[in-house]
Amino acid sequence: MEGLVTRIHRGHYYVEADDGTTLCCRLRSKLRKQLIYPESNQRRQRVLQVRRGERGGPVAVGDKVRVTPIDAKTGVIEQILPPDTELVRRAAGTENQPKRQRLVANVDQIMPIFAVQDPKPNFRFLDRYLVQIEAAELPAIICLNKMDLGIPAEVMEMALVYQRIGYRMLFTSAVSGQGLDDLRDTLKDHTTALLGPSGVGKSSLLNAVQPGLDLAVLEVSEATGKGRHTTTGVTRFELAGGGYVVDTPGLRELGLWDVDREYVDVYFTEMAPYIDHCRFPNCVHLTEPGCAVLEALARGEIAPERYESYLRLRGL
Ligand code: GDP
Ligand code: ZN
Repeated sequence: MEGLVTRIHRGHYYVEADDGTTLCCRLRSKLRKQLIYPESNQRRQRVLQVRRGERGGPVAVGDKVRVTPIDAKTGVIEQILPPDTELVRRAAGTENQPKRQRLVANVDQIMPIFAVQDPKPNFRFLDRYLVQIEAAELPAIICLNKMDLGIPAEVMEMALVYQRIGYRMLFTSAVSGQGLDDLRDTLKDHTTALLGPSGVGKSSLLNAVQPGLDLAVLEVSEATGKGRHTTTGVTRFELAGGGYVVDTPGLRELGLWDVDREYVDVYFTEMAPYIDHCRFPNCVHLTEPGCAVLEALARGEIAPERYESYLRLRGL
């Protein structure tokens, strides 16, 4: 049978068939070696990466898979069908021996979520997300939660920067209900992956959008100001109003994968239009004369914070 992976939890893969039944599955152990995506070279490339070993296994929530049922409740995943879209990262803690991790498959938009404060938003982190999302050719919608706490001026300024360069922004509060209608509209009839560090209110927002989900909301640890891990495993939910949401566990870091440092400027959407106008084709936009990016920066058309993120991701 064919089905869709709706939840991965501690080595168990929950696969939902078209008729709505769910099987709890294991992976065929030889699966990694057998993965073959004949469609394109790019896909073959990915298979090679899979072979090098992936954290968390080669299957992601959202994957369509072929399963052999064992009984009414369990089965074995035999094959992963090529995904239309996927979001990947370098698995946490693998700087020295980089491993690819697939975060989610077959979504049509990604929503990074940060709190306006408590915890303080980390825009460098957001920029890393955005680069990886651009590389996946998926639209990003940025959600700033906990608006009831008040939005600090410097956070508002950055919000306007992202808006100006074309990202949709949502301003929400799971407490006051601000922006929840917007959020519902945005999620409706789409398949959206939610990303964010823990403690930003991801579970609270989902509970507010769809009462009855009953996701665990944990108190933010007073000592560190950071949320504890509230969600384990990745889960895909169907929304009553239509559409799906994939909740990912709080991400502490997002190492870039499949993004060449050399080309990282392309994924800064406001920088991209300038790079072909630099005098030197191999311009890194640091000190070169005739650099169109530096000129745009000087004119205020590129925000210094975004430029700084670019430099870091470029390794300069
Ligand atoms: P997650 O780790 O992103 O899923 O965050 P949680 O939903 O578990 O929320 C973390 C903490 O932030 C909890 O103490 C929530 O009560 C609190 N919280 C969530 N959303 C809001 C909000 O909009 N405003 C305020 N003031 N607190 C919130
Ligand atoms: Zn340049």
